[in-house]
Amino acid sequence: MFDKILIANRGEIACRVIKTARRLGIKTVAVYSEADAGARHVRLADEAVLIGPASARESYLVIDKIIAAAQATGAQAIHPGYGFLSENEDFCHACDAAGIVFIGPPVGAIHAMGSKSEAKKLMEKAGVPLTPGYHGDDQAPEFLHVQADAIGYPVLIKAAAGGGGKGMRLVERSEDFIDSLSSCKREARSSFGDEHVLVEKYITRPRHIEIQVFADSHGNCVYLFERDCSVQRRHQKVLEEAPAPGMTLERRAAMGKAAVDAAQAVGYVGAGTVEFIANQDGSFYFMEMNTRLQVEHPVTEMITGLDLVEWQLRVAFGESLPLAQEQLQISGHALEARIYAEDPERGFLPSTGRLLHLSPPLENLHVRVDTGVEEGDEISPHYDPMIAKLIVWDQNRDRALARMLQALAEYRVVGVANNIDFLSRLTACPAFVNADLDTGLIERESDFLFPADIELPSEVWLVAALAELLRERHLAWESASRSGDPQSPWHIRDGWRVNANARREVIFRCGEKQQTVQVIYQGNAFSLVLDGLTVAAYGELDKRGLLRVEFDGRRMDATVIVANEKRHVFLNGRTWQLASIDPLYFAGEGAGAEGGLLAPMPGKVIALLAEVGTRVEKGAPLLILEAMKMEHTINAPASGLVKSYCFAVGDQVSDGFELVEFQPENA
Ligand code: ADP
Repeated sequence: MFDKILIANRGEIACRVIKTARRLGIKTVAVYSEADAGARHVRLADEAVLIGPASARESYLVIDKIIAAAQATGAQAIHPGYGFLSENEDFCHACDAAGIVFIGPPVGAIHAMGSKSEAKKLMEKAGVPLTPGYHGDDQAPEFLHVQADAIGYPVLIKAAAGGGGKGMRLVERSEDFIDSLSSCKREARSSFGDEHVLVEKYITRPRHIEIQVFADSHGNCVYLFERDCSVQRRHQKVLEEAPAPGMTLERRAAMGKAAVDAAQAVGYVGAGTVEFIANQDGSFYFMEMNTRLQVEHPVTEMITGLDLVEWQLRVAFGESLPLAQEQLQISGHALEARIYAEDPERGFLPSTGRLLHLSPPLENLHVRVDTGVEEGDEISPHYDPMIAKLIVWDQNRDRALARMLQALAEYRVVGVANNIDFLSRLTACPAFVNADLDTGLIERESDFLFPADIELPSEVWLVAALAELLRERHLAWESASRSGDPQSPWHIRDGWRVNANARREVIFRCGEKQQTVQVIYQGNAFSLVLDGLTVAAYGELDKRGLLRVEFDGRRMDATVIVANEKRHVFLNGRTWQLASIDPLYFAGEGAGAEGGLLAPMPGKVIALLAEVGTRVEKGAPLLILEAMKMEHTINAPASGLVKSYCFAVGDQVSDGFELVEFQPENA
């Protein structure tokens, strides 16, 4: 086996490859751009080489730099991951010239499958079923128009060099064909530098079913069953699963054979995926072959119990496939959800920023998290904004769905917008639950997936209020333990007053809606009044924001994270962001000031800037917190008095803890 390999990629897939290499005792070399200097894949690898600035064009896509890194570190082989250089013929040639093994198929296979129309010609010869259509060389618009008319509408025009869902046009009527053709060619030219197109019958309500194949250099080729990737948004996969719901043994064998035929027709070696488009009646047609490891390969690993990266390494080293077709088996059902830093409420706009709080569900036999980031890392604008792939497995599909819902509910991400709530709705969507699958599912179910107005459950306000009260209590303890007289009753924040009922209000806002929760202190517990209803509340809050709640004797778990001046409440598999409104500032100058004196994130106090006991103007810098490798200045929310600092320089602070005791002037 290889002693050392280089991984020419970043993010979750680089980490994924490192994991297997480490298990096999193979040393790993990471490459990284300046933007990825502290990235997880760099931390995990045995060695790492800086290859250039953030832009992939100047780093991850520069063949010479990667080859030089491999030579400098003595790596014998390069794993390209997916994307970047994974299907780049020049890169294969460069590896070859340098005497380095490219962990992937022979360059001829990449070339053969690189063009959709050339691939279709080859597949036609190999007897693989094809979508009815024209994939020849005649590109005259009038000629293609005649072909489209003969195929019958709707048709799909595809850029032969296209990929990633780009360069496709759906044409519904003959009179629109010429216009769509020229716009498709324009996009093909600018995106892929090649305006060659093919025309296909557009399959209505199609399913995307792909077959994982594996071949070695000794003439063996097997299929590792199918993955159903029908749930897509704009031709991009969102949820993937294996096996495909409703798949019969005969159909699986037929698709498996077609995929193996396809691979063998191009002399394939290594891991590959043959993508088919399937009609609702189960008939299927070859779409394309991806000559690399796919993003969604983990679902295949979960149902076969195999490690596909291990297979890739063995095959690249010249070994035979570890198992023959008869030895391969499907066990149970697996699902994968792609967790992205994107905002479903705003057209899935990518979101960037620091992951202020990140806690994935625990990994076990049923749950796997493939990720390239940890808490404190940044989702940068330079690369794909994927946070993680969440993969679950269970005995059957229903139970796997339940696992997925549970795991999504446990996933906490604060700092960037993300699609976790959307994925939860998708997993719970009746059409998906009933496996009524096709590539239009998300669009068709948009009413369910994007509910117009979600009523905020009363528990959310109560949970936020309780967390606030418990945090105050912790603060009191922390500052008391720092003072000369920790036992003094004056440190206790239980609302106790001389000759008065211990009552107060906490106010939150979520979007347009504002709610006031009345609080009555009851020793260790509280009575919370919301909309005239009184609830007996008791809770425990830990430093990571985990909140154990009891409302009228009913127990539940929630998480409340304070970050970016918001209370991020995670409850019952959903997330809400509430702003805390300080009643003291509410009417006056600082109206809407949202707890600016609390640590916005965990960090270290590095400077105290104001004199204790002095008056400062609104906005004056009070303290600097170093968190997530950046400095954050905490400013005065109003003009007022700096009464004391709760921490000293050098102290570590948890998020949400009070930093400065501050008395605003208008209070
Ligand atoms: P890309 O290389 O950009 O991924 P594909 O050819 O793999 O393009 O197609 C991507 C997606 O487009 C498929 O998963 C499917 O949803 C849709 N699609 C492709 N061909 C057809 C077709 N003939 N009819 C209907 N939908 C199609």
